[in-house]
Amino acid sequence: AVINFGSINIDHVYQVDHFVQPGETIASRHYQCLLGGKGANQSIALARAGSEVRHVGKINEADVAFKQTMIRDGIDCKHVTCTETASGHAIIQVTPSAENAIVLFGGANHEMTPKDIMFALDTVKPADWVLTQNETSSIDQVLIQAKEKGLRVAFNPAPMTESVKHLPLECIDLLIVNEIEAEEISGRKDLDKIEAYFRQDWPNTEVLITLGKAGVRMLKKDKTIDVPAFEVDAVDTTAAGDTFIGYFLSAYSAHTDSKTALIRACAASALAVMKIGAAQSIPNKEDVNRFLAK
Ligand code: ADP
Repeated sequence: AVINFGSINIDHVYQVDHFVQPGETIASRHYQCLLGGKGANQSIALARAGSEVRHVGKINEADVAFKQTMIRDGIDCKHVTCTETASGHAIIQVTPSAENAIVLFGGANHEMTPKDIMFALDTVKPADWVLTQNETSSIDQVLIQAKEKGLRVAFNPAPMTESVKHLPLECIDLLIVNEIEAEEISGRKDLDKIEAYFRQDWPNTEVLITLGKAGVRMLKKDKTIDVPAFEVDAVDTTAAGDTFIGYFLSAYSAHTDSKTALIRACAASALAVMKIGAAQSIPNKEDVNRFLAK
């Protein structure tokens, strides 16, 4: 199983003619309320890829419907607990030209404690993986406790912040970053220089650098694997990275070889960018099989 310590956000999406200006009140023409957050999206991708996934997170007790949505997707939510703090949420304005402006409130996601982590890691199997992102509190404890249990640890430092550099990075077996995160962590711009940095400073970590429509590069101990993206008509790249991570880890944690896992993850995320939205654009494994069979 994959145990994902991750954010659960409620995305409030407003269609507006233009972003609201200082002192202005505008009407929205359309409103949608959706389950989101990198954590929840990655759990959904793992579940749709066919993995057993246990999500560990916090929401406000008024929002249990969102937990039900995750359970319906096949996610074990025994360790999604309720608190009195508002759930993590995002107020998202979208203009007709598809630009967005977002206000994010971390809320309950920031109430994850070392105790919650201990509790969730109480019953694990040696083959389990732990996954986390940078949208909840106590990430250092996730990394440390998972390693103490002898589990393999995947970390997606998104959204990137200064604090990432102070985490116990030696606990990470698999680091998954997009190009911007790779540049920020390494302080370098060119992909080959970024690779040189990781090979020098992270010798014991496998690194996946996703490169948008240029595909992905994986740094393994003895080799570098480049896999191109599939050529598709992209309409919305929201959750492309989350889909990639869920699908890659699903295959990789089941001992699929790296190259095959990368191709599957590229196929799943290509399908995701062809559809509008976050969670609703994440394909299931039958869709991915069909796409790969073409
Ligand atoms: P993030 O969404 O985290 O910024 P990327 O933009 O690197 O991540 O996208 C993750 C993966 O999604 C890429 O490695 C690629 O396989 C796929 N992808 C992203 N954009 C496209 C695109 N325009 N066409 C095809 N595949 C894409």
